[in-house]
Amino acid sequence: SKQEEKEGASKKGARQAPVRGSYFGTVGCVALDRFGNIAAGTSTGGLSNKQYGRIGDSPIVGAGTYADNRTCGVSCTGIGEHYIRNAIAYDISAQMKYTKCTVQDAVQTAINKTLKPGYGGIIALDQKGNIAAGYNTGGMTRGMANSKGLFVVRIGKDPQ
Ligand code: ASP
Repeated sequence: SKQEEKEGASKKGARQAPVRGSYFGTVGCVALDRFGNIAAGTSTGGLSNKQYGRIGDSPIVGAGTYADNRTCGVSCTGIGEHYIRNAIAYDISAQMKYTKCTVQDAVQTAINKTLKPGYGGIIALDQKGNIAAGYNTGGMTRGMANSKGLFVVRIGKDPQ
C-alpha cells in the first residue's frame, strides 16, 4: 500500500543519522508589541532523513520556541533533539529570570556552553526590544527591525 511504501522509505532513512544541509527551511520569529507583549513562533520541515512521525523542538514550547513577557521571546533552529533535551528556549528565559543577565548573554551561554558546536542557532528579543542572535553553525540568515528605523538583514558570520 501507499502507507507501507511511505513507512518503508522512512525506515530506510531512519537508519542514517539526521543530516543538515547548508540551507535549512526553518523560519523563526520573535516580536514585541507596544503593550509589552512578546510572541515567538517557529516553522520547520524538520531534519533530513528524520524518522517518520518524529516531532522536533520547533512546536514544543520551552524547547525550540518560548515567550514570556517578563523575560524574552525565543525561537531556535538546529538539531531539535538537543534543544528538547536541554529545554533551550526556556533555559534562555530562565537564565534571564534567575540571574538577571541580558538576552544577549543568555543566548551566548546556550550557544557556547549548552549546545555543542554545529548544533544550531537562536534568535531572541527581550521586553525592552533588545535583540540577540547567536549560532554555532556556518551561518544563519536573519533580519531585525524596530520602530526606531533599524532594518538589517545579515547572513553568515557578520557582526551581530
Ligand atoms: N530544529 C528543527 C528540528 O529539529 C530543524 C531545523 O531547525 O532546521 O526539527
